[in-house]
Amino acid sequence: MGHDVTTPHPTRSPYLEALRCIQCDERHPVADHPQGCPSCAARGRNSNLFCVYADTAPAHQRYPYTGVPVLGQGETPLLPVGRRANVWVKNEAVNPTGSHKDRFSAFVTAHARASGYRGVVIGSSGNAGLSVAAYAAATGLRCTVAGFDWLPDRVRTYLTGFGAEVRTFATDRERVALVEELAGAPDTLAVSNVTHPVVGSSCFGIEGYKRISWEILEQAPEPVRHVILPSSRGDLAWGVHRGFVEAAEQLGRPIPRLHLVEPYPRLSAVLDGASLTDRFPGDFGRLSSIAGDGTTVQAHRAVTCSKGSAVVVPDAVADEWFQRLCRRGHVWERSSTTVFAALDTLRAQGRLREGEPTVLIATSHLFKGF
Ligand SMILES: [Zn+2]
Repeated sequence: MGHDVTTPHPTRSPYLEALRCIQCDERHPVADHPQGCPSCAARGRNSNLFCVYADTAPAHQRYPYTGVPVLGQGETPLLPVGRRANVWVKNEAVNPTGSHKDRFSAFVTAHARASGYRGVVIGSSGNAGLSVAAYAAATGLRCTVAGFDWLPDRVRTYLTGFGAEVRTFATDRERVALVEELAGAPDTLAVSNVTHPVVGSSCFGIEGYKRISWEILEQAPEPVRHVILPSSRGDLAWGVHRGFVEAAEQLGRPIPRLHLVEPYPRLSAVLDGASLTDRFPGDFGRLSSIAGDGTTVQAHRAVTCSKGSAVVVPDAVADEWFQRLCRRGHVWERSSTTVFAALDTLRAQGRLREGEPTVLIATSHLFKGF
């Protein structure tokens, strides 16, 4: 062939020492923990873990793997927003498969390959499935995507083009059952959540989101005070928060407040006193990328540790912004445009002042047909 992109050879970082629980702080060995922290899971309060590195690890080497597949992910532009002073959009839609998930997929497939798995399985009908399928192909892993029956035809075409096996189901229960069944094989890794209470996705993949924070620090002309991002289970929010925490530890940079946008109260309800283990059914309309009836410890901690907030943007309000941005030529999917509406809400509520440096994360491209 001669012109293939180089096959990656992922290697675990020598600086990766352990995993630590977000909730109880307990350290665990570097391994897959699909229930999250074993101690918290035993108490029915599932929490994700995060990677801990040796103190001697340089800032740019605080990632779990080297030699991850490179399809062009990352280094996305930070764009000014119209005439609004000190507001920028981090345009994650320009990643290879059109969303921020590519940063996750690069690391989670590197982890799978380096750990000896032969295949991955993911429950997704959207950005995550598409992204993991592409990176699994690049890394030489089998991939099964468990989606819903309403999976758009064009997404199915892309997935099968990447060589993934596509299985669809009417209900989330059936979908999760397939993920659990396939992940029961020792050579297959589940890279999406299979628990209730919800944990979130693989911590090795979430580490890939930290680079977004470092890029924002490099690109923004002044220190950023607020970051607004769409959120369902808080993978992106926790990764971005960890990136800012590491930058604060190493460079003394202030940690921006994270504001997580949701289609109806979930995290907002928890911040108002509801339990993290509750289910929160609600109408997400066409905001399928941020749907789901659970929130997570990692989403809660990203907000409380950064002194941020949760912002509700219903589908009808998001649609106004979606239409407006499309007329200006922007190609972000509906869930991504919620961050513009959230900026107005936060200003109206006095939680964010005019002129305070703010970054909106536009997570995904319009053209996938969700
Ligand atoms: Zn724990």
